[in-house]
Amino acid sequence: MKAVVYNGPKDVSVNTIDDPKIEKQTDVIIRLTTTNICGSDLHMYEGRTSFEKGRVFGHENLGEVIEVGAAVDRIKKGDRVCMPFNVGCGFCENCERGLTGFCLTTNPGTAGAAYGFAEMGPWQGGQAELMRVPYADFNCLKLPEDAEEKEDDYVMLSDIFPTGWHGVELSGFLPGESIAIYGAGPVGLMAAHSAEIRGASQIFVVDSHDDRLKLAEAIGAIPIDMRKGDPAQQILDATGGLGTDRGVEAVGYQCCDRHGKERSNYTMNCLVKSTKATGGIGVVGVFVPEDPNAPDDLQKEGKMAFDFGNFWFKGQKIGTGQCNVKHYNRRLMKLIEQGRGNPAQIISHRLPLDQAPDAYKHFDERDAGWTKVVLKPGT
Ligand code: NAD
Ligand code: ZN
Repeated sequence: MKAVVYNGPKDVSVNTIDDPKIEKQTDVIIRLTTTNICGSDLHMYEGRTSFEKGRVFGHENLGEVIEVGAAVDRIKKGDRVCMPFNVGCGFCENCERGLTGFCLTTNPGTAGAAYGFAEMGPWQGGQAELMRVPYADFNCLKLPEDAEEKEDDYVMLSDIFPTGWHGVELSGFLPGESIAIYGAGPVGLMAAHSAEIRGASQIFVVDSHDDRLKLAEAIGAIPIDMRKGDPAQQILDATGGLGTDRGVEAVGYQCCDRHGKERSNYTMNCLVKSTKATGGIGVVGVFVPEDPNAPDDLQKEGKMAFDFGNFWFKGQKIGTGQCNVKHYNRRLMKLIEQGRGNPAQIISHRLPLDQAPDAYKHFDERDAGWTKVVLKPGT
């Protein structure tokens, strides 16, 4: 089969590799029809993780079940399914509590598992024609009747729609509150969409790219262009000096590459500044634990200095971590089915698998108009 394979920093290619096979009777094999490129893929693409050469990318996957292990019960050949990016077992202590992002079986000893990801278990990604899904009864979300028609919305249930929702949830958000979201990438835009659905009184979205800020505005947010000056101050000015009730970090580690001296603490410091005293901050942007190639010593050790003094004096709260996708995605699927959730609105490109190398390059550079790429294997 064809698959998008990692060769080294900023080098991916579409190679022919062996087809996946049923390895345990709880597995299924999926023929992928839509598989997205995510901001999280860029941590590996840019070479700041231990992602091995030859590994297949892709954790935002949707397709048709073509082969079913003998012990799979609920999922049938021919079903159209979307896979949460977390690989869960369904029976460990964390999965039982709904914390499927931290499964203790699929990546023992560390923090959870995902398809096509460094340090998150051996699972191959789905930017390919076929993929193997373990514990398939647990890890496949069976889609409704309109699955094909709304495929580009449903594929967002694998990650960015629930992750955006999770960022809002981690901040402690309540209907009627105001919220500031840093980052108008796919995750930040989905946090804005979620806050809108959940009844935010005011939503601010910070970025420095016109095309992404326009999408934020179309979702119903007030765009904050950080090129025009300190974004936290702009939000304070717009809220009578008080700041917002809640804040979401949807940028993550890349900030250090892009903002030189300001490093990865930049968005955290902005959030402490633009969030009200006693307010809450949800951090879904990924901060890679250790990066030997990082531009400064703190980051090499996976550390980050942020303004803990003001955070403490303001009595703020913080929530962090991978999204537990299964905790949200049945409900978000209903919102899509009923037309109230429209995550596909941020898609900029629908491309065949062969064009993945070029798409990675453009998305990594945040080239104008490259907001969210969905790959269509088989086209
Ligand atoms: P992305 O990386 O393209 O989006 C980031 C956006 O932040 C870009 O538009 C960029 O211009 C903007 N940005 C950079 N510095 C900024 C700053 N200082 N202030 C405000 N905006 C700034 O793509 P994405 O897919 O939206 O991913 C965002 C983050 O979310 C990544 O770190 C990704 O790994 C993470 N993520 C986390 C989870 C989870 O489960 N927690 C899931 C998916 C993605
Ligand atoms: Zn993702």
